[in-house]
This record gives sequence, C-alpha cells and structure tokens, in this order.
Amino acid sequence: MAKQLTERDAMICRSCEREERASEGYPCAVCGTFICLMCTFRGVIRCKSCEAKAIAPVAVRTPLKIDWPDH
Ligand SMILES: [Zn+2]
Ligand SMILES: [Zn+2]
Repeated sequence: MAKQLTERDAMICRSCEREERASEGYPCAVCGTFICLMCTFRGVIRCKSCEAKAIAPVAVRTPLKIDWPDH
C-alpha cells in the first residue's frame, strides 16, 4: 500500500472550500483563518467572508481637506 500524506495536516480553505494542506497555506490577512496555497497563488489574501466585507463600501469617506498653515 502506498504511503499517504498525513491527513492531520488537512484544513478547509475558507476561500475555495477545498481541503488542502495547512502547512502549505497562508492565513487570511484579516481574521487569520486558513487560505490554501492555490488561492494564495491566485492573489487571494482574504477568506470569503472577509473578502465580502472588504468589497462592501467602507462607511463614509472623509473628504480630503487641506488646511494651509497660516503665515
Ligand atoms: Zn483555496
Ligand atoms: Zn478572513
């Protein structure tokens, strides 16, 4: 019988939801949950839920205001 890779290392990727090796993945940039290596290669740095929050409009943008110093 062929020796299998350790199953204990497997984790579910929170982006593509596939089971991948935890030791080869990276944590989500926001919440630190597991993102697999394949997603990382594709440029995914956040898990699904953090990505959804990230693309949602962020509150109210503060208008750019320049205060010139008084001379
Ligand atoms: Zn993935
Ligand atoms: Zn996350």
